Amino acid sequence: MARGDPASQHPGGSISIVGLRKDFGEVTAVDGINIDIGAGEFFTLLGPSGCGKTTTLRMLAGFEQPTEGQILIDGVDVAQTPAHKRPVNTVFQSYALFPHLDVERNVAYGLRWRKDLDKRERAARVAKALDLVQLSGYSKRRPHQLSGGQQQRVALARALVLEPAVLLLDEPLGALDAKLRHSLRAELTGLQREVGITFVFVTHDQEEALEMSNRLVVMDGGRIMQLGSPEEVYNEPLTEFVADFLGVANLLGIECLSDGGFMRTIRYGEFTLEAQAPAGHAAGEGRAVIRPECVELAAAGLTGANRMPGMVDRTVFLGSTTQVMVRLPHGAVLQSLMTNNAATETYSAGQPVTVCLPAESLRILATSAEAARFAYAETV
Ligand code: ATP
Repeated sequence: MARGDPASQHPGGSISIVGLRKDFGEVTAVDGINIDIGAGEFFTLLGPSGCGKTTTLRMLAGFEQPTEGQILIDGVDVAQTPAHKRPVNTVFQSYALFPHLDVERNVAYGLRWRKDLDKRERAARVAKALDLVQLSGYSKRRPHQLSGGQQQRVALARALVLEPAVLLLDEPLGALDAKLRHSLRAELTGLQREVGITFVFVTHDQEEALEMSNRLVVMDGGRIMQLGSPEEVYNEPLTEFVADFLGVANLLGIECLSDGGFMRTIRYGEFTLEAQAPAGHAAGEGRAVIRPECVELAAAGLTGANRMPGMVDRTVFLGSTTQVMVRLPHGAVLQSLMTNNAATETYSAGQPVTVCLPAESLRILATSAEAARFAYAETV
């Protein structure tokens, strides 16, 4: 696993999770999920506390036995393989380093099961792993002589030293302060691209998931709510849960006037608009979503498709962006997010404006039951 000589050693690392379920007595933590993860993918399990992501990861690691279902790693069912014999390794939120061992010996501890390696090979592996996490000059330090970020890198090196096909990461940045989390996100994705092994990452932080993943799954109540690339899941949420969990969402109470077809006519307050219905919502009352950065504002008095009059309620300056809250004639307040630059129009409270909700950004959301059918149809 030397720098620049990575992925070729791990052509494997694909994972198939089939009908996976875990019950703890009365509690169903994971409720029959199916996920295929490609070799070399950075895949994230995202969801609120208690959604079942850690339990899923622990079953992959071999720390929990599934109640039902299968886990295949490179096509091999690992049900009967104990944790330490699986081609996976885990990094936890708490680094769990040994305080009395220096960095080098903490990392070498990861090789404790590898009786086939001699002393020289072990030292070479440890040096490579420390190089990967950019800690080569720190090998003789004890954990208390390192920052939190450096300690987490030692924990990463200890997991990478075994050259696993799959690395499981359970909120590994969770114990770090916000600034360090940000810089370590980029480092961790860079490291993953470099070693080329499959990363399965657990987090409840949607920004982290969007920034780092090739694909992600949003979970709730032990089930998959949506699976896709960060762009797909953010731009094309199927349900209110996903729209609301990922980023900021303007959720609109609407009535869908037409049945069938991708573009639909909807009623929103006193306005008739066009909106997309990608998940096949039936006619009737429902919800639609539009992201704040897609809500366009213009001078008052403009008419045309998907336009309506509004009044600026308040503005919030956020540095690089400004939130403009606009009240519509029927009382609803929508958020528009403007990027600040010299050309940006400024708005102030009480100012009349025209609000445009472009049809390509306005999406009718499926009910949970509709989305479940849709997701099922996609996987079969
Ligand atoms: P968090 O982000 O808070 O860690 P999570 O999404 O990782 O949450 P899990 O830890 O997988 O969620 O837990 C899913 C559900 O299963 C929760 O309701 C939890 O209380 C329950 N659960 C997890 N482990 C056990 C256990 N050993 N015994 C009983 N219930 C458990």
